Amino acid sequence: MYNFVIGLVYFTIVGLFVECWVSLSKWNGRLHSYLFFSCVTNLVYSVGFLLQLRSGDQVSYVVAMKLGYLGRVWIGLALFLLVMELCQIHIPIVLKSVLVATHGFIYYLIINIEDNRLYYKYMEFVMDGDFPRLLHSGGIFYYVQTGLMLAYALIGISAVVITFIREKYLVAKKRYLMMSFAMFSIAISYIMYIFKLIPLAYTFDLTIFGFAIGTFFMLIAIFRYRMLDAETLARNYVVDELSEGIIVVDPEGKIAYCNKPAQRLFPELSQGSLAGKEAYNIIERIRFALYCDEPIRMNDRIFTPRVNSLMQNGTNVGTIFVLVDDSEHYRYMDELREQKEIADEANKAKSQFLANMSHEIRTPINAILGMDEMILRDCNEKEIKEYADDIQTSGRTLLTLINDILDFTKVEEGKMEIVPVQYEPGPLTNDIVNMISGRISQKGLVLNVSFDKNIPRLLKGDEIRIKQCVMNLLTNAVKYTEKGSITLTVGFSEADGGRIMLKFSVADTGIGIKPEDMDELFSPFMRAEENKNRSIEGTGLGLSITKRLLELMGSDIHIKSEYGIGSEFSFAVEQEVLNAEPVGDYSRKGEGGRKRTYKELFHAPDARILVVDDIKMNLTVITKLLMRTEIKIDTALSGPEAIKMSEDNEYDIIFIDHLMPDMDGIETLKRMKEKEKGKSPVYVALTANAISGAREMYLDAGFTDYISKPVEGERLEKLIKGYLPAEKLLDTPDSV
Ligand code: ADP
Repeated sequence: MYNFVIGLVYFTIVGLFVECWVSLSKWNGRLHSYLFFSCVTNLVYSVGFLLQLRSGDQVSYVVAMKLGYLGRVWIGLALFLLVMELCQIHIPIVLKSVLVATHGFIYYLIINIEDNRLYYKYMEFVMDGDFPRLLHSGGIFYYVQTGLMLAYALIGISAVVITFIREKYLVAKKRYLMMSFAMFSIAISYIMYIFKLIPLAYTFDLTIFGFAIGTFFMLIAIFRYRMLDAETLARNYVVDELSEGIIVVDPEGKIAYCNKPAQRLFPELSQGSLAGKEAYNIIERIRFALYCDEPIRMNDRIFTPRVNSLMQNGTNVGTIFVLVDDSEHYRYMDELREQKEIADEANKAKSQFLANMSHEIRTPINAILGMDEMILRDCNEKEIKEYADDIQTSGRTLLTLINDILDFTKVEEGKMEIVPVQYEPGPLTNDIVNMISGRISQKGLVLNVSFDKNIPRLLKGDEIRIKQCVMNLLTNAVKYTEKGSITLTVGFSEADGGRIMLKFSVADTGIGIKPEDMDELFSPFMRAEENKNRSIEGTGLGLSITKRLLELMGSDIHIKSEYGIGSEFSFAVEQEVLNAEPVGDYSRKGEGGRKRTYKELFHAPDARILVVDDIKMNLTVITKLLMRTEIKIDTALSGPEAIKMSEDNEYDIIFIDHLMPDMDGIETLKRMKEKEKGKSPVYVALTANAISGAREMYLDAGFTDYISKPVEGERLEKLIKGYLPAEKLLDTPDSV
């Protein structure tokens, strides 16, 4: 028997050695640490036990025992931790520390076993046949150690058995089975030894059998069922280390597996069964989120669900749900959105401010220009007339600038609209040439116009915006050219579907642009060679507005420039042809060129008009402009006031400002018409901005005509003359 036991111990030592070696060679993470810990403690105990069996007296026996206990006090804890880790049961670090301290203290007592009575109260060496033995009675810590060992065994066995039942994968299941066997054999041998359930228990420590059998089963688990295989590790650990929660559902809809992050997300999964109602609800929730294409929000975190079929050899063996923690991504997106909103708000505030300011500035400029017009008309002194002329020029420049800013803010806010209307390219060119020729000759430059006479007579497009683009290019050409000429070329080429590409080009012999400045030309408020060109008025908005307007019309601007020689700006816009007949010559004799001496067009003392505008100065300007016509003028500062006056009096023409606070021009017109009672005055809208399609809009609203501000005396008189009944017009000697 003695020799059998000795042989068994040798076998155990060799087995444990192999286990130690394998776990050491595959060391990778906590699981291996615990396995290695349990192997080493087991090995040390087995060696100590072998020496105990070989000892012949109490001194050598106790020395061997002290060596053996170096391993033995830890075996229970090591196996317990290993099993818990394999069963994925978390042991708090505090508990681990308390257990380690307790076992450490017990070993300290064993080292000094002769000097205290806390582990063995009494001990005596005897030879039982071949077996050396130590008769003893336990002290308090002997029972603490025994109690802990029993607790480890009980909890460990329960955990292994439960995990074994839950495990779905066959290989893993067998592995847990082997581990259960190992745990059982150790626990049973220990219990038999402690409680002396068989006679042999009196002779020697039976746990050595348990350890031998346990070692055997552990080896099977390692080699046969790949306890330490990378594949297994990947499933057990790598998958758990992922930030994604993974839930696998079998074809019957039951949860077959879930990793730790998934359990942290849904604690129900780690507590109860994977097939219960709660598990079903979880899957339903994920499926619903997938269906709505929405993330799942939980505990301040945001997860994006994904789903995939789990295929094996072409057959579906389940569904895998992955919950990706996208909280950071969403937080970043939220931050970006917030930042964008702040930036948009700031930009909007800037645009709003610019728009408000420009609008506010326009009103006094209109008044200045109107009043200045009066001076030009009434004054005969040459010097004062020149001053008034300068005021007129500067006022108009200021107005263009303000209009530019208004246009720019409109483009910025996406409110700029292109309104195609029918127009004639001949008069369009004529207007442009008339508008710029004064400035060109003032500067001593030459204007060459090359106009293709075959351009179709009637086109459809945004006439006003095209005019604005060409005018911007022409004013720049004048501004940046000191001597030489400016050439305006208007041409066309055929396009598909009854359309043409209408082409404009403006070439000058001016200062030119350096290649490195080209890119910045279209940035708002950017000017090339700021210092050098300081004396040339400008905001840096003209080209950026032109470019954006052209983009809105589906076109783009092209520049050719040589520094010091000159520049050429050109663009082509696609226009619908309404009448393909060639236009012929563009110029109309007798048009354009401002008349310098004013002469009223008519006298109409019997006619009566009403002018409605919320700004008093505008009313004054119109009243003054029409003074010499002797027409009777009433004024009103608001819609309701005007309605009352139109009810009480009979007017030939009523001018109504479009934009008024409280009741706007269109509403005022509607109410006036309701109360007309047989009277039928002509309604004319007063509008701030010239936009294409304005005529159609005002006609639709019920107006007969419209006139844009700043109101020019001559245009106003022409308009009134056209609508007054003949009997009220007293012809002036040189009326037109
Ligand atoms: P600005 O109000 O300064 O004229 P623009 O946007 O119209 O603003 O033009 C931007 C810049 O492009 C100008 O400041 C000028 O430096 C340059 N530029 C524009 N047109 C010409 C030209 N015909 N010749 C030379 N430089 C030009």
